[in-house]
Amino acid sequence: MVDLKRQYENIQDEIDAAVLDVIRSTQYINGPEVKAFQKELEAYLGVKHVIPCANGTDALQVAMMALDLKPGDEVITTTFTFVATVEVIALLGLTPVLVDVDPETFNIDPEALKKAITPKTKAIVPVHLFGQCAHMESLMKIAKAHNLYVIEDTAQAIGSDYHFNDGSSKKAGTIGHIGCTSFFPSKNLGCYGDGGAIFTNDDALAGKMRVIVNHGMEVRYYHDSVGVNSRLDSIQAAILRIKLRRLDSYAKARLQAAEYYDKAFANHPGLQTPVRSPFTSHVFHQYTLKTTGVNRFKLQEYLMERDIPAMVYYPVPMHMQKAYDDPRYRKGDFPVSEALSESVISLPMHTELDKEQLIHIVNMVLDGMEASKV
Ligand SMILES: *Cc1c(COP(=O)(O)O)cnc(C)c1O
Repeated sequence: MVDLKRQYENIQDEIDAAVLDVIRSTQYINGPEVKAFQKELEAYLGVKHVIPCANGTDALQVAMMALDLKPGDEVITTTFTFVATVEVIALLGLTPVLVDVDPETFNIDPEALKKAITPKTKAIVPVHLFGQCAHMESLMKIAKAHNLYVIEDTAQAIGSDYHFNDGSSKKAGTIGHIGCTSFFPSKNLGCYGDGGAIFTNDDALAGKMRVIVNHGMEVRYYHDSVGVNSRLDSIQAAILRIKLRRLDSYAKARLQAAEYYDKAFANHPGLQTPVRSPFTSHVFHQYTLKTTGVNRFKLQEYLMERDIPAMVYYPVPMHMQKAYDDPRYRKGDFPVSEALSESVISLPMHTELDKEQLIHIVNMVLDGMEASKV
């Protein structure tokens, strides 16, 4: 799905030198590279505080720990997402409340969100799925009216711009109270291992989260709150500094590949190309097609057999997962997410796709559609 090898080869000299520098410095934890990356990411995002941490799941967990929620408090997110979002809610003894998504954008449906709010609701976690922002303007309005925290899961949309009605723009993850991202290798800003970060403009929340990621410790060996150990390695920070400088050009390369796919599949009756919301840029973490009239798993198999990776994100919505089995929910409750989980397929999407590869992938998809008709 991603060509991390070729991407590395194109920046190899810079990366190798930076990694060696860190090794020679022996400042492997919280060294100057981590601080420098933090400052550079704050500047790029236009946000007051970036708190680096060990991965995107931790980012979500630390964000929720900072809100002082109590067991039984409800946190709303979508059922059509990566498990991490729901996992941390459950881990903290909070109650995940799931809602359906918009059939065109795959993002949280503001109307469904409104209906799910109860007196116990304390926070909402919109997931900016596949690379474009959820409708933050309406979500923030709903959150304000009900006094809810908003934690943006921007693991898939770092660098995306959200455009407000008044003409102003903000980066994904800097609109709600807290934003969370992942630097997992295949993410748009990926390191060479695990990494993550939390964003906020709120000084008090930032202070709290800096303490939580460091064992609840402000003064060494004095622990005022229960924390976790969640750090970004200096080596990963050094790599991320190099890749952050290229994030916008990487997004452009992804967009060009997406536009090529869009044109190639525009008139196919069995394929719907990704719908782009007017209020957000799309950084195409995934290029996800909706299929009709074919056996989607057969299509996937057809492509895989021809060495074209094709993945299904996500084959089972959260309310139908064993771990999150809940008597409140059953099959049929979230028809949009269920239909999507049965019909979507994601094609290779990365920064090194060349014309020849794109032509080949498109031809194989078109042939595969014929071969997997139902
Ligand atoms: C990748 C991802 C995460 C988790 O990030 P990790 O760094 O793998 O822990 C969370 N939410 C979404 C939507 C993701 O895609």
